[in-house]
Amino acid sequence: MKAVAKSEAEPAADAFSLYDAEEAVILQAETMLAGLSNAAAGVNALADAYRRGYREQRRLVRMSDRMQLDLQKANHCLAEQRRDLQALNEALSKEIEHRTRLEAELRRLADTDSLTGALARRRFMEISAREWARHQEGTAPICVLMLDLDRFKLVNDSFGHAVGDAALVASVAACRANLRPRDIIGRTGGEEFAVLLPETGLGHALEVAERLRDAVASAPVEAQGGTVTMSVSIGVSQARQGESLESAMQRADAALYTAKDDGRDRVRSAPGEGSP
Ligand code: GH3
Ligand code: MG
Ligand code: MG
Repeated sequence: MKAVAKSEAEPAADAFSLYDAEEAVILQAETMLAGLSNAAAGVNALADAYRRGYREQRRLVRMSDRMQLDLQKANHCLAEQRRDLQALNEALSKEIEHRTRLEAELRRLADTDSLTGALARRRFMEISAREWARHQEGTAPICVLMLDLDRFKLVNDSFGHAVGDAALVASVAACRANLRPRDIIGRTGGEEFAVLLPETGLGHALEVAERLRDAVASAPVEAQGGTVTMSVSIGVSQARQGESLESAMQRADAALYTAKDDGRDRVRSAPGEGSP
């Protein structure tokens, strides 16, 4: 019988250990490869995460840039709106100022006689009524004068309307120059005027009226071919206890008619109020 060599029948024990060693090496290699591929996967994942982070960062930067641009635009818009509002505000203030001036001017025109500068009748009555009421509450006297230029129609007819106008202006100026600032003069009709003298008794009011009469007579007006000398008749009344302004004016008016009847260019006091 042929002896079978042991090496042919089964590997020697050494050969097994060799296989084991080889297998271990292969296992190690496989483990290393797996490790390497794990590392590669890790690197890839890291790269991926980095890329995603980078993209996110870029997205955020772009978003913040856009937001900054939007904010700049909004700021610009706001600044423009503020400028527009300021301009509107200034325009409105100017308009209000203009209207206020216009209203004051209109009031002044409505309150004042444009020819002579005396108060218009309505305004004279308003202011005088207030002053009258104040005096009626106290004990100080108050007087009213009614004035009417004499034969004024004749002045117009002889020298023309322009000279008549100039005579009206000169007469009021002459009266004003002889009144106190607190006295009130108003144009109550064409060539008729009223004067309120606060804190003035009848005696003093008659003196004032005489002064006015004299001043009008001393204020001639230039006309073609010479000068025109005016004269004025004046009626005077002093407020009675509890009497209304209108009533005192009526009494002064009655005195004025007496002055006219007595020959014009003179001063008369209301009936029952003493001389002249
Ligand atoms: P008497 O002495 O009686 O008062 O006579 P008179 O001529 O002054 O009175 P009358 O009422 O007859 O005439 C007043 C005149 O005043 C008539 C009118 O034409 C004139 N007149 C009224 N207003 C104005 C005015 O603003 N300018 C001028 N120039 N004349 C005026
Ligand atoms: Mg008259
Ligand atoms: Mg007259």
